[in-house]
Amino acid sequence: MKFISFASGSSGNCYYLHADGCSIIIDLGLGIRTFKKTYKDYGCSFGDIQGILVTHNHTDHTKAVGYLSNEFHIPVYTTEAVHEGMRNNPFLSKKIKPQELKIVNHSTPFQIGPFTITAFPVPHDSYGNNGYIICYKEIVFCIITDIGHVTPEIEEAVSKATHLVVESNYDLHMLETGPYPLRLKKRIEGPYGHISNAETALLLTNSLSPELIKKVWLCHLSEENNKPELAALTSLSALQNSPKLNHINPQPLPRKQPTGVIELQ
Ligand SMILES: [Zn+2]
Ligand SMILES: [Zn+2]
Repeated sequence: MKFISFASGSSGNCYYLHADGCSIIIDLGLGIRTFKKTYKDYGCSFGDIQGILVTHNHTDHTKAVGYLSNEFHIPVYTTEAVHEGMRNNPFLSKKIKPQELKIVNHSTPFQIGPFTITAFPVPHDSYGNNGYIICYKEIVFCIITDIGHVTPEIEEAVSKATHLVVESNYDLHMLETGPYPLRLKKRIEGPYGHISNAETALLLTNSLSPELIKKVWLCHLSEENNKPELAALTSLSALQNSPKLNHINPQPLPRKQPTGVIELQ
C-alpha cells in the first residue's frame, strides 16, 4: 500500500492511498491544476481513482473535489451533511453530479476496491465531520484532521491504528502571543476549532497501541502558530517518556510540498 500527502494545512489538504491498482483520494483542497500536475509528475493514473473521501465542508478540504469527480467520473463519499454543505458552499463552483454522490454513515463500513472504510464523527465547526479508518490487509490507516477536542470515538480510532495521520495544529504559546485577532484565537482554541501540539501528544501517549502502531504523521500544522520541529518535538518528548511507545517518531507533513511516495508495511 502506498501513501502520498500532497498538501496539509489551511492552504489545502490532499492525501492519496493506493493498493492493488486502486487509488483513493482523501480531501482535495488544492487548485485542480496544481493537483493534476503533481499527480501526473508522480506517475499516478487518474483512471485508478475509485473514490474521493471528504472529511468536511471547509474549502481547504473540498476546493477541487467537484472538478476531479466531474472530469474522471469519480464517486465522492461523505456524510449527507457534508454533501449538503458542499452543495451550498459558494466557494465551490463545480458541483458534484448526482450519480457520483455516495452517502456515508458513521460506523457503517463500506468498500472501495480493496479498502474497507469506516467513518467516525469528529468535533469541528462544520456539519457531519469525519475521521476515517481505512483497512487493507494488516494495515489500519487512520486519518484525523480538523478536530476541536478529543472524543472517545477519536481515542478508539487511534487505538486501532497501525498508521496514523493526526492533526497537530498549533503551539498554544505561539497562538496566544501571535498576530491573530482574539476572536480567531478563540475559534482555533475552542472545542470546535483545532487541537494543539500538546493535545496531540496527550492523545498519542494515551491512546496508541504499542503492539499495533508503526508510523505517525502530524498534519494540518498552522503556518503562523506552529513550526514543524516544535510539533514533532512536543509529540516525540511525550512518547519518549512512554516506555512502550518510545520507538515512535512522529513526522510532520509539509504544508505545501508533496511527501513523495511512502510505502506502508
Ligand atoms: Zn482544514
Ligand atoms: Zn476545517
